[in-house]
Amino acid sequence: MRFVCRCLLLLGSVLLLAPLSPSSTQSPDHPAPASPPSASATSNAGPASSPAQAYTLSPDKLARATALARIRNILDIAGSLWSIVFLWLLLGFGGWARIEAWAQRRSRRRSVQGAYFFLSFFFFTWLAALPLAMVGHHFERSYQISVEAWGSWFADQAKALGLTFVVGTLLLLFFHWIVRKWPRRYWFGIWLVTLPLLVLLLLVEPLAEPLFFQFEPLSKNHPALVQELEKIVTRTGTGIPSERMFLMKASEKTNGLNAYVTGLGATKRIVVWDNTASRIPDDEILFIFGHETGHYVLNHIPKMIAGSAAGLFFVYWGCAAFAAWLIRRRGARWGAPDLASRTGFVVLLFAVSIAAFLLEPAGNAFSRHFEHQADIYGQEAIHGIVPDPQKTVAAAFNDLGKAWLDDPDPNPFVQFWFNDHPSTQARASFALHYDPWANGGHGKYFRN
Ligand SMILES: [Zn+2]
Repeated sequence: MRFVCRCLLLLGSVLLLAPLSPSSTQSPDHPAPASPPSASATSNAGPASSPAQAYTLSPDKLARATALARIRNILDIAGSLWSIVFLWLLLGFGGWARIEAWAQRRSRRRSVQGAYFFLSFFFFTWLAALPLAMVGHHFERSYQISVEAWGSWFADQAKALGLTFVVGTLLLLFFHWIVRKWPRRYWFGIWLVTLPLLVLLLLVEPLAEPLFFQFEPLSKNHPALVQELEKIVTRTGTGIPSERMFLMKASEKTNGLNAYVTGLGATKRIVVWDNTASRIPDDEILFIFGHETGHYVLNHIPKMIAGSAAGLFFVYWGCAAFAAWLIRRRGARWGAPDLASRTGFVVLLFAVSIAAFLLEPAGNAFSRHFEHQADIYGQEAIHGIVPDPQKTVAAAFNDLGKAWLDDPDPNPFVQFWFNDHPSTQARASFALHYDPWANGGHGKYFRN
């Protein structure tokens, strides 16, 4: 699911104003700390170190994980709200209107004015988000999740901003042009182009990754692992040749563990983080690979795109109505006479950012469902290849959880609102009890 999330993030960062974060320290396909209601039976049964739990931490790690979870939760919530409040503040104080007037003085050409305006837009929203991002990096470093030096971190921030400048400005110029061209039905036009844009972003996303990390062929230093992975490729029929398996040098920046599948069609590839390859048993990596393969085989990417497209139809329509209402009420005060003005367009982005925040739980619920399916698929994929799939998968979640310091007993509200993966506790617990092969049965996705 990694690249879908990345691309939605990219498109989202354009539409929804969160500055594009480099794919650095947090693993997108890794469970962020928190737990779904389904885990509450075990989670609430006692302290996280209770023997009934499938994912446990030593007392020392548990204390650190709990403290870090609180920090991550506060930063998540604060970051989401601040990105909305910041837009509103600049509208209220006439900031965007002033930037628009400045852009108009820079050039007579509309497109150049637009470029100045949207570049400024991305710069200021990035700048506004920077302090919280720095606080986040500070804590990830102090809890030894991240090992990325500040210089490298700032370089990544700059690269991400550069990408946002290019991709984001082009997209917003295009969307704003649609708004001016069809002032009444523009939301429908934007909706029509969103789907092909999403697919395009999915295709080009892997091209941006080498900006942040180094890659090498996995077979170079891990030939045995490649041989093992090929067993999963054969069993799942996904046809990823060993030349398309890569090792990502993540250890330069993070102590976290991950692996993922990315690309479409001929560019499909598997990426294993170097710290994953060196720190956990191959059997566990096979499961992670099986999980990622599941996202492909079960068509989670097209389903996610189709779902987003269906949802966005109503979101855009609602946001257009909300933005029109805001402009009627506040437009004169904000220097936004209509949506065709650039400041008016920011009002639309403001409406979209509120909708995005409110709808986050819905998107995450779908995502958690897909992640759970991929967990089942991954566990079934390693059946017959590793001696004990239940133990292997539970061990994998324990190793991942320890590496990222996931909270074994996460806040249910945060889990519901912000987390696109089930909690590590829920995943480990499910794995430990999932045994469809008992009494001669078979799995959901494999006949043997
Ligand atoms: Zn996944």
